[in-house]
Amino acid sequence: MSDTRIAIVTGASRGIGKAISIRLAKEGRHIALVSRSAGPLAEVKHAIESAGGKASVFATDVADNKAFAEAIEKIASDLGRIDILVNNAGITKDGLILRMSDDDWNAVVQTNLTSCFVAIRAAARHMMRGKFGRIINISSTSGVVGNAGQANYAAAKAGLIGLSKTVARELGGKNITCNVVAPGFIETDMTAGLPPEIKERIQQMMAIKRLGVSEDIAAAVAYLTADDAGYVTGQTLCIDGGMTMC
Ligand code: NDP
Repeated sequence: MSDTRIAIVTGASRGIGKAISIRLAKEGRHIALVSRSAGPLAEVKHAIESAGGKASVFATDVADNKAFAEAIEKIASDLGRIDILVNNAGITKDGLILRMSDDDWNAVVQTNLTSCFVAIRAAARHMMRGKFGRIINISSTSGVVGNAGQANYAAAKAGLIGLSKTVARELGGKNITCNVVAPGFIETDMTAGLPPEIKERIQQMMAIKRLGVSEDIAAAVAYLTADDAGYVTGQTLCIDGGMTMC
């Protein structure tokens, strides 16, 4: 079996997940690229391989528990092991609580929280076998301090923090760490629709007077998934330009 560490990154087709995939590949990891769209994932794989890295595409809907658990087993059998899991795939369906539908609540909780539980349960077995694991759940500052119009999203993202602390306690003795990275405002497709004046207002709330970029998040994930980050677990690292300082 190769010594190369195998890293699953969900939501790898664009935005933060793409940047994390490219960064971890630069750190020498073989990336299992997961999202629903095979075409964009193939482009990310090409970018990684052109730079001398390793990546494989596993197009899957993380909101489908059965399909996602099966995909994780396929990654383990195709690539030989699972060392790193980055649960990054996420969606928003914003609305004020009085008008939020059950469907919008359930869709966001399923994709942003339940999928992470499914992935951790499946991947942890392989990490235990390899006596090594690094799990990162991508939350949000909305999950730490709340955000009007995001009851579903903030609840799911806060749930990730409790999930991660519990996994950290359950699996710490097996050399498996579990941490949360909570981005603030990062320029991606998810935030592209916001009017410029709102972006300007958000920027003024930050100690560092710029919006975040995906690479800011990727750098934190690279640190927390490193072999020598094994004494850091159960933590939530807010990367938000000093917006919340939480
Ligand atoms: P994008 O909307 O740019 O990308 C979302 C990614 O998730 C895509 O790769 C998409 O792939 C994937 N995805 C969504 N639903 C599914 C699904 N059901 N199955 C598989 N993949 C799915 O978002 P960002 O890059 O901005 O966000 C990444 C993470 O960071 C999310 O968890 C988000 O909540 C979090 N975050 C982002 C912030 C920001 O300011 N941008 C702030 C705080 C947190 P595809 O469509 O190909 O399936």
